[in-house]
Amino acid sequence: MGMRIGVLALQGAFREHVVSLKRLGVEACEVRNLREIDSVDAMVIPGGESTTMGKLLTDWGMLTPLRTRIEAGMPVYGSCAGLILLCREIENSTQPRLGVLDAVVRRNAFGRQVDSFETLLDLPVLARQGEEHQPFPAVFIRAPVILQVGPQVDVLAEVKGQAVAVRQGHILATSFHPELTRDSRMHRYFLDMCS
Ligand code: GLN
Repeated sequence: MGMRIGVLALQGAFREHVVSLKRLGVEACEVRNLREIDSVDAMVIPGGESTTMGKLLTDWGMLTPLRTRIEAGMPVYGSCAGLILLCREIENSTQPRLGVLDAVVRRNAFGRQVDSFETLLDLPVLARQGEEHQPFPAVFIRAPVILQVGPQVDVLAEVKGQAVAVRQGHILATSFHPELTRDSRMHRYFLDMCS
């Protein structure tokens, strides 16, 4: 039996993640409640608005159970707002969060003028054995950066010296949105982490 990946579908860019995962041939579904959290082997938390998603997770009693599953080892990948929700500390904010990733994050870190941009990122972990590394087209939309990480966290990519992709064991997080491009290597990397 193959694994089933759930995409948290309370708000934000969840459909695009489901499409990206299915394109890789894996079973992917939208997750909206506790029963659905229990039915999946791994989860993606999409981009969107972290305050809204955190509030909905709290209101619907999903925040603590989801945290408990991640702490018990369920692989999780958060992009953009999803990254923010995973972090232990959010600069100048007490908004609800999962807090499982030992990192300090700054929201909307790239300022107003450059609210959104695309850049070619050096992300060497995406190359499989024998493959040559090609830069990854990363889309940033009102994106966060990681200011500080704990000893368990590996920084996978940086923009101007600030971390934008990190991994802590079974927890993966990126400031950018790989679900908005055709490049499937970031999702493939997450699936490799899951198996
Ligand atoms: N700025 C949003 C937040 O702080 C994240 C933006 C995104 O997910 N594209 O939640």
